[in-house]
Amino acid sequence: MSTLGVALLGATGSIGETAQRVVARHPDRFRLVALTANGNADELAKAAQRWRPAFVGLVEPAGRAVPATWGSGAQCLVDAAQHPDAQIVLNAVVGAAGLDATLAALAAGKRVALANKETLVIGGTLVQRAVRAKGGSVIPVDSEHSALLQCLAGRIGSSGEGLLPVQGVKRFVITASGGPFRTWDTERIRGAKLSDALNHPTWAMGKKITVDSASLANKALEVIEAHVLFGVPYEKIEVVVHPQSIVHSMVEFEDGSVLAQMGVPSMELPVLYALTYPERLADAGVPRFDPLAHSPLTFEAVRHDAFPTLGLGVAAGKAGGAAPAVFNAANEAAVARVLAGSLDFARIPVAIEGALAKLQGVRGDDRTSLLAADAAARAYVQEMR
Ligand code: NAD
Ligand code: MG
Repeated sequence: MSTLGVALLGATGSIGETAQRVVARHPDRFRLVALTANGNADELAKAAQRWRPAFVGLVEPAGRAVPATWGSGAQCLVDAAQHPDAQIVLNAVVGAAGLDATLAALAAGKRVALANKETLVIGGTLVQRAVRAKGGSVIPVDSEHSALLQCLAGRIGSSGEGLLPVQGVKRFVITASGGPFRTWDTERIRGAKLSDALNHPTWAMGKKITVDSASLANKALEVIEAHVLFGVPYEKIEVVVHPQSIVHSMVEFEDGSVLAQMGVPSMELPVLYALTYPERLADAGVPRFDPLAHSPLTFEAVRHDAFPTLGLGVAAGKAGGAAPAVFNAANEAAVARVLAGSLDFARIPVAIEGALAKLQGVRGDDRTSLLAADAAARAYVQEMR
């Protein structure tokens, strides 16, 4: 069997590193043919030396002396995504910056293994059009959506709503760890510090998604992602808190049967599965699950009063148009400010709510209008005092 070429966008990040480990365990199946990073030239150079890919791109060289053969600027993501040696594009870029690479890969008819959930939140309809036009596909890397896909294996149809249309689903139950503030009361969350928000109880991830997990913005993005991927209406998507992060999500079918996918919290399997779907591949790097060691498994209701960001995001998803893009951009801008120390963590939902109110009803039917809404939401949050 010949190997499949993989373009890895965001190679130096948390998912990027996981992907390098997964590919390293399966040299007979996959090879990395293109690598990109944002600004970390040293880590990218190391990865390039290790994998000898046909293409390397650093978005922001910022005056560093990098090899003349490297691509640069946002265009290098598109070039990597369309590289002729790549059959699969693993998009592990964080934020709206990943959108154009997903669209470029789909325009070239490729499989996108998608960690960059922001792509689907901003550009769900654009992605849908691109898939229909060129026959590419989107396979989720996000652990909850990988779980849903695994529960739905064999039931993905070719027609219907969504990128991976399914029939006969009564309900999705998406699990959330609850993050570091799961047991904090509203008053205490109001005083939360950045270091508290970065202290995730079950997952080790990049900083942006770690803050999103503390505010539950991440779960809002994931509800929208599930809707876009599988075409299941919002009314049938529930979120439940599951502090152990063992059950990655559940699907309830028409007859009342519920399937869940379980595993130790680790992205090794979701990354592997997105590369091999619909196949499964024996893999030594996926941690073994021991039900006794991980007992008990518990479930709790979401405390919407303490975590208003989740409701704001789901409402934006339901509103459609530019609202999900505004939600995402306002959240990205707010998280950037929290990480820079110029905004309190507790003000994230305030920023998002303000941006959504200000930009209510703005157009969002093509890439240009969506990116304009994205820019306006960022400007609103950046000017907030
Ligand atoms: P990270 O911050 O660790 O890594 C991000 C990567 O993207 C880095 O390689 C960085 O160089 C690159 N990057 C950052 N900004 C960029 C820009 N403007 N243009 C091009 N490249 C840029 O993030 P991560 O935790 O690996 O998350 C990546 C994506 O995967 C996010 O969308 C996140 O929501 C999603 N995700 C992550 C996890 C996880 O366990 N880390 C789980 C599920 C989903
Ligand atoms: Mg997730």
